[in-house]
Amino acid sequence: MFDPHWNALHGVPAYPVERYGALADRIGGILMSRNDVLLMQAEATVALEAVAVSLARPGLSALNVVTSSYGSWFGQWLRRGGAAVRDVAAQPGLPIEIEAVAKALDAGPHVDLLAVVHAESASGILNPLTRIMALAQARGIVTVVDAVASVGGHPLDIDGLGIDIAVIGPQKALGGPAGVSALSVSRRAWQLILRDGTPRDSILSLADLKTWVDGGRRGLPGTPSPLEFFALEATLDRIEAEGLESVIARHALAASATRTGLTALGAGAWVPSAKASNLVTSVAVPESLTPAALITTARRLGVELTEGVGTAPARLLRLNHTGPRAAFQPVLANVAAFGAALRQAGHPSDIAAAAEAISAAYSR
Ligand SMILES: *Cc1c(COP(=O)(O)O)cnc(C)c1O
Repeated sequence: MFDPHWNALHGVPAYPVERYGALADRIGGILMSRNDVLLMQAEATVALEAVAVSLARPGLSALNVVTSSYGSWFGQWLRRGGAAVRDVAAQPGLPIEIEAVAKALDAGPHVDLLAVVHAESASGILNPLTRIMALAQARGIVTVVDAVASVGGHPLDIDGLGIDIAVIGPQKALGGPAGVSALSVSRRAWQLILRDGTPRDSILSLADLKTWVDGGRRGLPGTPSPLEFFALEATLDRIEAEGLESVIARHALAASATRTGLTALGAGAWVPSAKASNLVTSVAVPESLTPAALITTARRLGVELTEGVGTAPARLLRLNHTGPRAAFQPVLANVAAFGAALRQAGHPSDIAAAAEAISAAYSR
């Protein structure tokens, strides 16, 4: 029947209930995990807050690694729930030093929980996750990893590393929708969550979502938004067709090409490559210039450069090569526009050499 008000965006059929379980299994494949995978109909920050709310209570002791505002927020949410939280913070715009984590763990008192972000899109750093997990494993500590930015951009072996809870979102390196996120939860993490007094009847309750797992993983609790789940399914189709390893390799190439381009330009990336994420590359703004002026010039060329988030006093600009941007054209445009902005501000930069270096990196 003709309906003049019909619109493809809100006239969507319900997402078939029998396909939620398959979505969770496919995400488990990406995470290399046999743990329970929960789907949450919300952006990843909500899933992170749900983890903190579901774990926090008086008597819980946590060590919280802070390398951006996501880490600070996680610590605040745990404290709000009554947990005793010690933060161990990195220098602004740099990853945490493994020695700082070891020292904090050895300084005591005993810690039940350790939380850390894998890779930061706020600054472009990569935390030493393998070594941090080894420290936690050796001490029997339950671990929470914010892998929202890193999934699809870096190898992430949840079960191999022994990560108890990982939170991911499809909208960064996987290039998918922002309105849905996922978590993997180990048996050990469930034990910690389901102890006395875990919150229930709350949109932030993981215990509530466990009833979905235990009930055969059909319709999600609440009112699912079909658009988000069809979009997630299409994203997983695309990732599986490209191959997760290729997606990660594409991000690694975008990062290394950006770095060689910046070096040829005469600028150089902010963090050494071993400490850098494959998602964004930060570059220090020369003393005499302002980030805002460079951003404005680049925008006139149609290129979106952004300031590092929470990285003061370091003055950093971010070149974004995440998701669909992990490709030759955005990488070349980012570096060339940054070079053009430097020049326009009276600062030398060798754009031709940068273009040569990026082309060579993509021609290997
Ligand atoms: C983007 C990001 C988030 C938040 O994800 P949203 O979907 O924007 O809520 C959390 N943690 C990290 C490390 C991120 O990069």
